Amino acid sequence: MNARPRPQSEALFDAAQALIPGGVNSPVRAWKAVGGTPVHVARGYGPLVIDVDGYEYIDLVMSYGPLMLGHAPASVTEAIIEAAERGTTYGAPTGGEVQLARKIVELVPCVEKVRLVNSGTEATMSALRLARAHTGRDALIKFDGNYHGHGDSFLVKAGSGALTLGEPDSPGVPKALAELTLVADYNDLASVEALFDQNPDRIAAVFVEPVAGNMGTVPPVAGFLEGLRELCTRHGAVLVFDEVMTGFRVARGGYMERCGVMPDLVTLGKVIGGGLPIGAYGGRAELMNQVAPAGKMYQAGTLSGNPLAVAAGVAMLNELSEPGVYEGLEATGARLERGLLAAAAKHGVPMVVGRVGSMLCPYLAASEVTTFGDVMASDRARWVPFFHGMLERGVLLPPSPFEAWFLSTAHDDATIDQVIEAADGALAAI
Ligand code: PMP
Repeated sequence: MNARPRPQSEALFDAAQALIPGGVNSPVRAWKAVGGTPVHVARGYGPLVIDVDGYEYIDLVMSYGPLMLGHAPASVTEAIIEAAERGTTYGAPTGGEVQLARKIVELVPCVEKVRLVNSGTEATMSALRLARAHTGRDALIKFDGNYHGHGDSFLVKAGSGALTLGEPDSPGVPKALAELTLVADYNDLASVEALFDQNPDRIAAVFVEPVAGNMGTVPPVAGFLEGLRELCTRHGAVLVFDEVMTGFRVARGGYMERCGVMPDLVTLGKVIGGGLPIGAYGGRAELMNQVAPAGKMYQAGTLSGNPLAVAAGVAMLNELSEPGVYEGLEATGARLERGLLAAAAKHGVPMVVGRVGSMLCPYLAASEVTTFGDVMASDRARWVPFFHGMLERGVLLPPSPFEAWFLSTAHDDATIDQVIEAADGALAAI
Protein backbone atom coordinates (compact mmCIF):
# COMPACT_ATOMS: atom_id res chain seq x y z
CA MET A 1 0.00 0.00 0.00
CA ASN A 2 1.41 3.38 -0.99
CA ALA A 3 1.21 6.46 1.18
CA ARG A 4 -1.52 8.72 -0.11
CA PRO A 5 -0.27 12.07 -1.46
CA ARG A 6 -0.94 14.97 0.90
CA PRO A 7 0.16 18.12 -0.98
CA GLN A 8 -1.87 20.53 1.15
CA SER A 9 -0.38 19.24 4.42
CA GLU A 10 3.08 19.40 2.87
CA ALA A 11 2.63 23.00 1.73
CA LEU A 12 1.33 24.05 5.13
CA PHE A 13 4.15 22.27 6.92
CA ASP A 14 6.73 23.95 4.66
CA ALA A 15 5.22 27.34 5.43
CA ALA A 16 4.96 26.55 9.14
CA GLN A 17 8.59 25.53 9.41
CA ALA A 18 9.62 29.02 8.30
CA LEU A 19 7.34 30.63 10.87
CA ILE A 20 7.11 28.36 13.91
CA PRO A 21 10.00 26.41 15.48
CA GLY A 22 9.88 22.97 13.88
CA GLY A 23 6.60 23.95 12.27
CA VAL A 24 4.55 23.02 15.33
CA ASN A 25 3.38 24.52 18.60
CA SER A 26 4.09 21.36 20.61
CA PRO A 27 6.97 19.02 19.75
CA VAL A 28 5.29 15.60 19.34
CA ARG A 29 3.09 17.00 16.56
CA ALA A 30 6.16 17.22 14.30
CA TRP A 31 6.22 13.42 13.76
CA LYS A 32 9.95 13.24 14.59
CA ALA A 33 9.49 9.70 15.97
CA VAL A 34 7.74 8.34 12.89
CA GLY A 35 8.97 10.53 10.03
CA GLY A 36 6.92 12.07 7.25
CA THR A 37 4.71 15.13 7.05
CA PRO A 38 2.21 15.63 9.86
CA VAL A 39 -1.42 15.43 8.86
CA HIS A 40 -2.80 18.99 9.11
CA VAL A 41 -6.35 18.82 10.33
CA ALA A 42 -9.15 20.84 8.77
CA ARG A 43 -11.98 19.68 11.00
CA GLY A 44 -13.11 17.04 13.44
CA TYR A 45 -16.46 15.35 13.81
CA GLY A 46 -17.30 12.63 16.34
CA PRO A 47 -14.48 10.02 16.19
CA LEU A 48 -13.15 11.41 12.89
CA VAL A 49 -10.79 14.08 11.67
CA ILE A 50 -10.67 15.32 8.08
CA ASP A 51 -7.35 16.65 6.90
CA VAL A 52 -6.60 19.59 4.62
CA ASP A 53 -6.24 17.21 1.66
CA GLY A 54 -9.73 15.84 2.23
CA TYR A 55 -8.84 12.44 3.72
CA GLU A 56 -10.87 11.16 6.63
CA TYR A 57 -9.27 9.35 9.57
CA ILE A 58 -10.55 7.61 12.67
CA ASP A 59 -8.82 9.72 15.32
CA LEU A 60 -7.13 8.03 18.27
CA VAL A 61 -5.08 11.11 19.20
CA MET A 62 -8.16 12.99 20.36
CA SER A 63 -6.06 16.00 21.35
CA TYR A 64 -4.19 13.74 23.82
CA GLY A 65 -7.13 13.24 26.12
CA PRO A 66 -9.60 16.09 26.55
CA LEU A 67 -12.21 14.95 24.03
CA MET A 68 -14.24 12.39 25.97
CA LEU A 69 -17.28 12.97 23.73
CA GLY A 70 -15.47 13.04 20.39
CA HIS A 71 -14.94 16.12 18.26
CA ALA A 72 -17.42 18.99 18.31
CA PRO A 73 -20.09 17.45 20.57
CA ALA A 74 -23.24 19.60 20.33
CA SER A 75 -23.59 20.26 24.06
CA VAL A 76 -20.03 21.58 24.45
CA THR A 77 -20.08 23.55 21.20
CA GLU A 78 -23.35 25.24 22.16
CA ALA A 79 -22.05 26.09 25.62
CA ILE A 80 -18.98 27.75 24.09
CA ILE A 81 -21.06 29.78 21.61
CA GLU A 82 -23.45 30.93 24.32
CA ALA A 83 -20.57 31.95 26.57
CA ALA A 84 -18.75 33.77 23.74
CA GLU A 85 -21.82 35.83 22.99
CA ARG A 86 -21.64 37.18 26.55
CA GLY A 87 -17.97 38.16 26.21
CA THR A 88 -14.80 36.12 26.26
CA THR A 89 -13.03 37.34 29.40
CA TYR A 90 -13.59 40.00 32.08
CA GLY A 91 -10.89 39.95 34.72
CA ALA A 92 -13.67 39.63 37.28
CA PRO A 93 -15.14 36.53 38.92
CA THR A 94 -18.06 34.72 37.25
CA GLY A 95 -20.73 32.17 38.10
CA GLY A 96 -19.24 29.68 35.61
CA GLU A 97 -16.07 29.36 37.68
CA VAL A 98 -18.13 28.55 40.76
CA GLN A 99 -20.08 25.92 38.81
CA LEU A 100 -16.95 24.18 37.54
CA ALA A 101 -15.24 24.36 40.95
CA ARG A 102 -18.35 22.85 42.57
CA LYS A 103 -18.35 19.97 40.06
CA ILE A 104 -14.67 19.25 40.70
CA VAL A 105 -15.08 19.40 44.49
CA GLU A 106 -18.12 17.12 44.31
CA LEU A 107 -16.57 14.54 42.03
CA VAL A 108 -12.84 14.37 42.82
CA PRO A 109 -12.51 12.73 46.25
CA CYS A 110 -9.38 14.49 47.57
CA VAL A 111 -10.49 18.00 46.56
CA GLU A 112 -12.01 20.37 49.11
CA LYS A 113 -10.86 23.50 47.31
CA VAL A 114 -9.59 24.05 43.79
CA ARG A 115 -7.84 26.80 41.82
CA LEU A 116 -8.27 27.04 38.04
CA VAL A 117 -5.30 27.80 35.77
CA ASN A 118 -4.73 27.60 32.01
CA SER A 119 -2.79 24.39 31.37
CA GLY A 120 -1.58 21.20 32.97
CA THR A 121 1.90 22.71 33.11
CA GLU A 122 0.64 25.62 35.19
CA ALA A 123 -1.22 23.23 37.47
CA THR A 124 1.85 21.13 38.30
CA MET A 125 4.12 24.18 38.69
CA SER A 126 1.63 25.70 41.11
CA ALA A 127 1.11 22.47 43.07
CA LEU A 128 4.87 22.17 43.45
CA ARG A 129 5.16 25.73 44.75
CA LEU A 130 2.38 25.03 47.21
CA ALA A 131 4.03 21.83 48.43
CA ARG A 132 7.28 23.73 48.91
CA ALA A 133 5.52 26.57 50.70
CA HIS A 134 3.65 24.17 52.97
CA THR A 135 6.62 22.04 53.96
CA GLY A 136 9.35 24.68 53.87
CA ARG A 137 11.40 22.13 51.90
CA ASP A 138 12.85 22.42 48.38
CA ALA A 139 13.37 18.96 46.90
CA LEU A 140 10.87 16.78 45.10
CA ILE A 141 10.68 13.22 43.86
CA LYS A 142 9.37 12.40 40.41
CA PHE A 143 9.46 9.25 38.31
CA ASP A 144 11.48 8.48 35.23
CA GLY A 145 9.09 8.42 32.26
CA ASN A 146 6.35 10.40 34.03
CA TYR A 147 5.59 13.80 32.49
CA HIS A 148 4.28 16.81 34.38
CA GLY A 149 4.44 19.53 31.76
CA HIS A 150 7.40 21.72 30.91
CA GLY A 151 8.06 23.53 34.19
CA ASP A 152 11.79 23.75 34.95
CA SER A 153 11.64 21.48 38.00
CA PHE A 154 10.00 18.71 36.00
CA LEU A 155 12.24 18.77 32.92
CA VAL A 156 14.73 16.59 34.68
CA LYS A 157 15.92 13.07 34.02
CA ALA A 158 17.63 10.59 36.25
CA GLY A 159 21.38 10.93 36.38
CA SER A 160 23.53 7.83 36.05
CA GLY A 161 21.82 5.23 38.21
CA ALA A 162 18.34 5.97 39.47
CA LEU A 163 19.37 7.20 42.89
CA THR A 164 21.28 10.29 41.87
CA LEU A 165 20.45 13.93 41.72
CA GLY A 166 18.51 15.01 38.67
CA GLU A 167 20.15 16.47 35.60
CA PRO A 168 18.53 19.02 33.30
CA ASP A 169 16.64 17.42 30.44
CA SER A 170 16.72 20.64 28.45
CA PRO A 171 19.20 23.48 28.01
CA GLY A 172 17.93 26.45 29.95
CA VAL A 173 16.95 24.51 33.06
CA PRO A 174 19.37 25.68 35.78
CA LYS A 175 21.48 22.85 37.13
CA ALA A 176 20.95 24.20 40.64
CA LEU A 177 17.21 23.76 40.22
CA ALA A 178 17.43 20.36 38.54
CA GLU A 179 19.46 19.10 41.48
CA LEU A 180 16.41 19.56 43.66
CA THR A 181 14.49 17.06 41.52
CA LEU A 182 15.18 13.49 42.56
CA VAL A 183 14.21 10.80 40.10
CA ALA A 184 12.88 7.39 41.14
CA ASP A 185 11.63 4.40 39.12
CA TYR A 186 7.90 4.15 38.46
CA ASN A 187 6.38 1.06 40.08
CA ASP A 188 9.47 0.58 42.25
CA LEU A 189 8.72 1.59 45.81
CA ALA A 190 12.21 0.69 47.04
CA SER A 191 13.70 3.41 44.80
CA VAL A 192 11.45 5.98 46.50
CA GLU A 193 12.21 4.71 49.97
CA ALA A 194 15.93 4.98 49.26
CA LEU A 195 15.57 8.63 48.18
CA PHE A 196 13.64 9.47 51.34
CA ASP A 197 16.27 7.73 53.46
CA GLN A 198 19.12 9.58 51.75
CA ASN A 199 17.40 12.98 51.98
CA PRO A 200 15.89 13.28 55.44
CA ASP A 201 13.64 16.35 55.90
CA ARG A 202 14.42 17.63 52.38
CA ILE A 203 11.55 16.31 50.29
CA ALA A 204 8.57 18.59 49.85
CA ALA A 205 6.55 16.41 47.50
CA VAL A 206 6.25 13.23 45.51
CA PHE A 207 4.71 13.79 42.07
CA VAL A 208 3.28 10.77 40.31
CA GLU A 209 1.03 10.01 37.38
CA PRO A 210 -1.10 7.37 39.12
CA VAL A 211 -1.42 5.65 35.72
CA ALA A 212 1.71 6.48 33.74
CA GLY A 213 0.26 7.89 30.52
CA ASN A 214 3.31 9.55 29.05
CA MET A 215 5.18 6.31 28.47
CA GLY A 216 2.17 4.70 26.82
CA THR A 217 -0.23 3.40 29.42
CA VAL A 218 1.31 1.71 32.44
CA PRO A 219 -0.99 1.03 35.40
CA PRO A 220 0.47 1.04 38.91
CA VAL A 221 1.41 -2.38 40.32
CA ALA A 222 -0.42 -3.55 43.44
CA GLY A 223 0.72 -1.64 46.51
CA PHE A 224 2.72 1.04 44.66
CA LEU A 225 0.40 4.01 45.24
CA GLU A 226 -0.48 2.76 48.74
CA GLY A 227 3.26 2.64 49.47
CA LEU A 228 3.78 6.19 48.20
CA ARG A 229 0.94 7.36 50.45
CA GLU A 230 2.52 5.68 53.45
CA LEU A 231 6.02 7.04 52.71
CA CYS A 232 4.76 10.60 52.22
CA THR A 233 2.77 10.49 55.44
CA ARG A 234 5.71 9.07 57.36
CA HIS A 235 8.17 11.66 56.03
CA GLY A 236 5.87 14.68 56.05
CA ALA A 237 5.93 15.11 52.25
CA VAL A 238 2.99 16.16 50.09
CA LEU A 239 1.70 13.43 47.77
CA VAL A 240 0.58 14.88 44.45
CA PHE A 241 -1.34 12.79 41.92
CA ASP A 242 -0.91 14.34 38.49
CA GLU A 243 -4.28 13.46 37.02
CA VAL A 244 -4.06 15.95 34.15
CA MET A 245 -4.53 12.95 31.85
CA THR A 246 -6.47 10.51 34.05
CA GLY A 247 -8.84 12.99 35.74
CA PHE A 248 -12.40 12.42 34.45
CA ARG A 249 -10.82 10.06 31.88
CA VAL A 250 -10.51 6.77 33.78
CA ALA A 251 -13.35 7.62 36.19
CA ARG A 252 -15.24 10.78 37.14
CA GLY A 253 -13.08 11.18 40.22
CA GLY A 254 -9.89 10.23 38.41
CA TYR A 255 -7.70 7.25 39.22
CA MET A 256 -7.87 8.04 42.94
CA GLU A 257 -11.54 7.05 42.82
CA ARG A 258 -10.63 3.68 41.30
CA CYS A 259 -7.71 2.90 43.62
CA GLY A 260 -8.96 4.49 46.83
CA VAL A 261 -5.57 6.05 47.63
CA MET A 262 -5.95 9.74 48.52
CA PRO A 263 -3.24 12.21 47.56
CA ASP A 264 -2.87 15.54 49.37
CA LEU A 265 -3.09 17.47 46.10
CA VAL A 266 -4.24 16.65 42.61
CA THR A 267 -3.53 18.38 39.31
CA LEU A 268 -6.12 18.34 36.55
CA GLY A 269 -6.42 19.63 32.99
CA LYS A 270 -7.56 18.33 29.60
CA VAL A 271 -11.11 16.95 30.17
CA ILE A 272 -12.20 19.65 32.63
CA GLY A 273 -11.85 22.27 29.87
CA GLY A 274 -13.98 20.39 27.34
CA GLY A 275 -11.24 20.94 24.73
CA LEU A 276 -10.39 24.53 25.65
CA PRO A 277 -7.19 25.50 27.49
CA ILE A 278 -7.46 24.84 31.23
CA GLY A 279 -5.74 23.34 34.23
CA ALA A 280 -6.52 23.06 37.93
CA TYR A 281 -4.95 22.09 41.21
CA GLY A 282 -6.83 21.21 44.33
CA GLY A 283 -6.81 19.28 47.56
CA ARG A 284 -7.38 19.61 51.25
CA ALA A 285 -8.64 23.04 52.35
CA GLU A 286 -5.82 23.35 54.86
CA LEU A 287 -3.33 23.26 51.97
CA MET A 288 -5.33 25.24 49.42
CA ASN A 289 -5.96 28.03 51.92
CA GLN A 290 -2.26 28.84 51.66
CA VAL A 291 -2.81 30.05 48.06
CA ALA A 292 -3.11 33.83 47.51
CA PRO A 293 -5.18 35.77 48.34
CA ALA A 294 -6.35 33.39 51.10
CA GLY A 295 -2.71 32.73 51.99
CA LYS A 296 0.80 33.80 51.08
CA MET A 297 1.73 31.44 48.26
CA TYR A 298 1.43 33.56 45.13
CA GLN A 299 -0.15 32.27 41.95
CA ALA A 300 -2.28 34.19 39.46
CA GLY A 301 -3.53 34.36 35.86
CA THR A 302 -5.12 36.93 33.52
CA LEU A 303 -7.22 34.29 31.75
CA SER A 304 -7.58 31.81 34.65
CA GLY A 305 -11.16 30.58 34.99
CA ASN A 306 -11.80 31.80 31.45
CA PRO A 307 -15.56 31.98 30.76
CA LEU A 308 -15.36 29.94 27.54
CA ALA A 309 -13.18 27.23 29.07
CA VAL A 310 -15.33 26.85 32.18
CA ALA A 311 -18.55 26.78 30.11
CA ALA A 312 -17.07 24.03 27.92
CA GLY A 313 -15.83 22.20 31.02
CA VAL A 314 -19.17 22.33 32.81
CA ALA A 315 -20.97 21.06 29.69
CA MET A 316 -18.45 18.24 29.38
CA LEU A 317 -18.67 17.20 33.05
CA ASN A 318 -22.47 17.33 32.90
CA GLU A 319 -22.47 14.82 30.06
CA LEU A 320 -19.95 12.64 31.86
CA SER A 321 -22.29 12.57 34.87
CA GLU A 322 -24.90 10.66 32.85
CA PRO A 323 -25.26 7.04 33.97
CA GLY A 324 -23.36 4.41 32.00
CA VAL A 325 -20.81 6.69 30.35
CA TYR A 326 -17.72 5.13 31.93
CA GLU A 327 -19.12 1.60 31.62
CA GLY A 328 -19.52 2.29 27.90
CA LEU A 329 -15.98 3.65 27.60
CA GLU A 330 -14.64 0.58 29.43
CA ALA A 331 -16.46 -1.72 26.99
CA THR A 332 -15.09 0.26 24.03
CA GLY A 333 -11.55 0.04 25.38
CA ALA A 334 -11.88 -3.68 26.10
CA ARG A 335 -13.20 -4.33 22.57
CA LEU A 336 -10.22 -2.57 21.01
CA GLU A 337 -7.77 -4.34 23.32
CA ARG A 338 -9.20 -7.78 22.45
CA GLY A 339 -9.17 -7.01 18.74
CA LEU A 340 -5.58 -5.73 18.74
CA LEU A 341 -4.30 -8.73 20.67
CA ALA A 342 -6.13 -11.14 18.36
CA ALA A 343 -4.74 -9.43 15.25
CA ALA A 344 -1.22 -9.46 16.70
CA ALA A 345 -1.47 -13.14 17.63
CA LYS A 346 -2.76 -13.99 14.13
CA HIS A 347 0.30 -12.40 12.54
CA GLY A 348 2.80 -13.63 15.12
CA VAL A 349 3.65 -10.11 16.34
CA PRO A 350 4.41 -10.03 20.08
CA MET A 351 2.09 -7.46 21.69
CA VAL A 352 0.93 -6.50 25.16
CA VAL A 353 -1.69 -3.84 25.72
CA GLY A 354 -1.55 -1.46 28.68
CA ARG A 355 -5.03 -0.12 29.26
CA VAL A 356 -7.13 1.66 31.88
CA GLY A 357 -10.65 2.28 30.60
CA SER A 358 -10.53 4.43 27.46
CA MET A 359 -6.78 5.11 27.44
CA LEU A 360 -4.50 2.40 26.14
CA CYS A 361 -1.18 1.63 24.51
CA PRO A 362 -0.23 -1.47 22.56
CA TYR A 363 3.45 -2.26 23.04
CA LEU A 364 5.30 -4.46 20.59
CA ALA A 365 6.70 -6.51 23.44
CA ALA A 366 6.62 -10.15 24.49
CA SER A 367 6.18 -9.72 28.22
CA GLU A 368 4.40 -7.48 30.69
CA VAL A 369 5.25 -3.76 30.69
CA THR A 370 5.37 -2.31 34.21
CA THR A 371 8.47 -0.09 34.24
CA PHE A 372 10.03 2.61 32.08
CA GLY A 373 12.76 0.08 31.28
CA ASP A 374 10.14 -2.34 29.93
CA VAL A 375 8.71 0.46 27.79
CA MET A 376 12.12 1.32 26.37
CA ALA A 377 12.79 -2.37 25.66
CA SER A 378 9.67 -2.68 23.48
CA ASP A 379 10.16 -2.85 19.71
CA ARG A 380 10.09 0.83 18.79
CA ALA A 381 11.63 0.35 15.35
CA ARG A 382 8.83 -1.96 14.22
CA TRP A 383 6.25 0.42 15.64
CA VAL A 384 7.09 3.03 12.96
CA PRO A 385 5.82 0.99 9.96
CA PHE A 386 2.83 0.01 12.09
CA PHE A 387 1.99 3.71 12.55
CA HIS A 388 2.24 4.39 8.82
CA GLY A 389 0.29 1.23 8.00
CA MET A 390 -2.53 2.45 10.22
CA LEU A 391 -2.39 5.92 8.65
CA GLU A 392 -2.68 4.46 5.15
CA ARG A 393 -5.70 2.50 6.34
CA GLY A 394 -7.39 5.62 7.66
CA VAL A 395 -6.49 5.51 11.37
CA LEU A 396 -4.61 8.42 12.92
CA LEU A 397 -2.49 7.30 15.87
CA PRO A 398 -0.37 9.48 18.13
CA PRO A 399 2.96 9.77 16.28
CA SER A 400 5.04 8.10 18.99
CA PRO A 401 5.13 4.62 20.53
CA PHE A 402 5.08 6.26 23.97
CA GLU A 403 1.84 8.20 23.66
CA ALA A 404 -1.46 6.77 24.85
CA TRP A 405 -4.37 6.25 22.46
CA PHE A 406 -7.60 7.91 23.55
CA LEU A 407 -11.15 6.77 22.89
CA SER A 408 -14.39 8.67 23.30
CA THR A 409 -18.11 8.03 23.54
CA ALA A 410 -18.19 8.79 19.79
CA HIS A 411 -16.06 5.69 19.05
CA ASP A 412 -18.86 3.16 18.57
CA ASP A 413 -18.42 -0.58 17.99
CA ALA A 414 -18.38 -0.20 14.21
CA THR A 415 -15.61 2.41 14.46
CA ILE A 416 -13.57 0.19 16.78
CA ASP A 417 -14.00 -2.74 14.40
CA GLN A 418 -12.63 -0.58 11.57
CA VAL A 419 -9.58 0.21 13.74
CA ILE A 420 -9.12 -3.51 14.41
CA GLU A 421 -9.38 -4.30 10.71
CA ALA A 422 -6.77 -1.63 9.97
CA ALA A 423 -4.52 -3.09 12.66
CA ASP A 424 -4.93 -6.54 11.14
CA GLY A 425 -3.66 -5.19 7.82
CA ALA A 426 -0.91 -3.07 9.32
CA LEU A 427 0.39 -5.89 11.53
CA ALA A 428 0.35 -8.32 8.62
CA ALA A 429 2.58 -5.91 6.71
CA ILE A 430 5.29 -5.30 9.30
N1 PMP B 1 0.73 16.27 33.38
C1 PMP B 1 0.39 15.21 32.64
C2 PMP B 1 0.18 13.89 33.29
C3 PMP B 1 0.22 15.35 31.26
O1 PMP B 1 -0.10 14.28 30.52
C4 PMP B 1 0.42 16.62 30.67
C5 PMP B 1 0.25 16.85 29.18
N2 PMP B 1 0.14 15.77 28.38
C6 PMP B 1 0.76 17.70 31.50
C7 PMP B 1 0.91 17.48 32.85
C8 PMP B 1 0.97 19.05 30.93
O2 PMP B 1 -0.23 19.60 30.52
P1 PMP B 1 -0.25 20.78 29.43
O3 PMP B 1 0.24 20.17 28.15
O4 PMP B 1 -1.70 21.18 29.38
O5 PMP B 1 0.61 21.87 29.92
